[in-house]
Amino acid sequence: MIKGFLEVAKDAVGSSLEDGDIAIDGTVGNGFDTVFLAQAVGSTGFVYGFDVQEMAIASAAKRLQKNGLNNVTLCHCGHEQVVGKIPEKFHGKVKAAMFNLGFLPRSDKNIITQAQTTVPALQGAYDVLCPGGVLSVAVYTGHEGGVEEGDAVQQWMEALDWNECRCASYTFTNKPKGREVLYLVEKLRKPRKA
Ligand code: SAH
Repeated sequence: MIKGFLEVAKDAVGSSLEDGDIAIDGTVGNGFDTVFLAQAVGSTGFVYGFDVQEMAIASAAKRLQKNGLNNVTLCHCGHEQVVGKIPEKFHGKVKAAMFNLGFLPRSDKNIITQAQTTVPALQGAYDVLCPGGVLSVAVYTGHEGGVEEGDAVQQWMEALDWNECRCASYTFTNKPKGREVLYLVEKLRKPRKA
């Protein structure tokens, strides 16, 4: 069976997470992935979530509460601030980061992730990952600016050092319009010798 985007992302991220880990949700939206991450790191772990939309933060907070989860810090700010918002003691200790780009369905479709903030956010999340840490990025190109953002993400990924990490992409090859790509980055436990 061919898996959907979010399933592949969750497999990669979920299989790397253990109790007590630190994780990032770069695009909280309605909080479904935030709940997934918060459950995967257990009550001794922490999740940092980011969204620029007040409504998204409120909706995610409600969902977390409903699930009895209190190990999440929701940051109502852009994900490009990720490095500054994560306590220094966790820099280099983050096990996983998830980004689901684009706009939030059934909400303000003018609030869209943008290449110029997405790329610094991905770099920041990558920088705070621990060896063995995983980053997932779901890219949608069907909306205005989506193609440019997708190209910027692809370029950023291609420039990552093969000796330090490996990147993979997953896409539905025959999708007629609006290319969608899921990128996965894994920081190597042991960097290869250059
Ligand atoms: N397109 C996806 C959902 C994306 S949700 C899907 O179909 O599943 C993207 C979220 O990113 C939205 O909730 C939006 O508010 C948020 N967002 C936009 N710009 C952001 C930024 N700079 N930092 C953090 N979140 C941002």
